[in-house]
Amino acid sequence: MEGSIERTAKTVWEGCLSYIKDNINEQSYKTWFLPIQPLKLQDNVLSIQVPSKFFYEWLEEHYIRLLKSAITRELGAQAKLVYSIIMENNYGNNTPSTIKLPSNQRGKIENPKLNLPVEIGGAGIRNPFIIPGLRKVNVESQLNPNYSFDNYVEGDCNRLARSAGFAVAGKPGGTSFNPLLIYGGVGLGKSHLAHAIGIEVKDRYPEKTVLYVTADKFQAQFIDSVRNNTKNDFVHFYQMIDVLIIDDVHSFAGKEKTQDVFFEVFNHLHQNGKQIVLTSDRAPVDLQGVEQRLLSRFKWGLSADLQFPDLETRIAIIHKKLYNDGVDMPEEVIEYLAYSINTNIRDIEGAIISLLAQSSLNRKKITLDLARQMINKFVKNTTREISIDYIQKVVCDYFDMQVDMLKSKTRKREIVQARQLAMYFAKQLTKSSLASIGAQCGNKDHATVLHAVRTVNNLTETDKRFRLYVDDLRKKLTLS
Ligand code: ADP
Ligand code: MG
Repeated sequence: MEGSIERTAKTVWEGCLSYIKDNINEQSYKTWFLPIQPLKLQDNVLSIQVPSKFFYEWLEEHYIRLLKSAITRELGAQAKLVYSIIMENNYGNNTPSTIKLPSNQRGKIENPKLNLPVEIGGAGIRNPFIIPGLRKVNVESQLNPNYSFDNYVEGDCNRLARSAGFAVAGKPGGTSFNPLLIYGGVGLGKSHLAHAIGIEVKDRYPEKTVLYVTADKFQAQFIDSVRNNTKNDFVHFYQMIDVLIIDDVHSFAGKEKTQDVFFEVFNHLHQNGKQIVLTSDRAPVDLQGVEQRLLSRFKWGLSADLQFPDLETRIAIIHKKLYNDGVDMPEEVIEYLAYSINTNIRDIEGAIISLLAQSSLNRKKITLDLARQMINKFVKNTTREISIDYIQKVVCDYFDMQVDMLKSKTRKREIVQARQLAMYFAKQLTKSSLASIGAQCGNKDHATVLHAVRTVNNLTETDKRFRLYVDDLRKKLTLS
């Protein structure tokens, strides 16, 4: 009977809806399907209008199968679906501009023919990044391609932030991590991670508009726009971004006008399901000078911190950097650098660069000695203290044994001796307390450490061979 009735877009879509309604929960049905308008039916192609690009992506991501079976039931196996997307546009132009995309053709969106520049309707908005003829796809993302996830070494220090970042990149605006706030001290990888998220989004969703900007630059552009009477353009520009990454938002502290405008942008983006990624050098609670209403919004999503990486991760990071630069370095030098620098990753990179520069300038091979001299000069200015880890490693290497043994309860003579030497040097070369040295050298108490220091002092005076060990080790441990 159905076949005899003239089918229209409306009736076909009604048929689809009743099938869809039976197959998903009511909330999703209301949210994602009721707002859709059937537009046109031609041959077996049904055009539907969706309210935004975000909507379209969401449908394609989550309901493509359902849509496909619904439309196949209505129109047969040859059926096709075409989306018409109302471009978000609040610029006093009420007629929606639309772009058309065929269903389930994500790959094709990259096709230059289909990837029509999405024109933002009406008024010419001044783009603070000064890209002529504002077209949405033309926004330069300002991303640094070296700061990718591939180059971002994972460790305990960054696991949460990294995986949250990765999740966000896979589904911008579609996770509960919105905003995602990454915080941590200087040189610990905040900017790198922020770029990585942007790069990953661009990779997966080339049609999305991603923008990386520092808080300072955002502020400078805002001030300019006020001066030039183009504040609305400034706001509109930022409101059309799909993934907005603002680095170092702690700089907003005390800058009320900038916070106000950022608040406006933030709300617009968040309400429209756009992703916001922020970095800060401290946790939201410690961001003094930032308005409460902004701070409370930062807490809507996820705050994840970055810590200083453990030794293993530091070594892995150095390997990665050297590999990327195509340079070789003896393993003992790599370990030495990882052991000796305990400030941040940027300092480790600085040390590698100085070392490479030194070695090529003086035509010297990169050796442990050269590394020591360099570290001595390079890291002296920063708070440098030799670590107990490093002392243990040097002592163990010297006696050709495993660090695990030194930390064990073993009472074997050679091991007791090595352990005592490590304690002795830890006392001499670090500011650690006896108790803490003991705790790190096989869970001993402070009296044991004191005893070790005395024993080493005594033996140095009475045993020639032992004195040789001590002198050798001291040379290895103290620089130059
Ligand atoms: P921040 O923004 O926190 O001050 P950056 O993101 O600028 O720090 O990182 C400093 C340097 O350390 C960068 O060159 C970055 O590539 C590097 N870095 C930080 N974390 C990692 C990591 N997990 N893996 C590889 N390199 C890293
Ligand atoms: Mg940074």
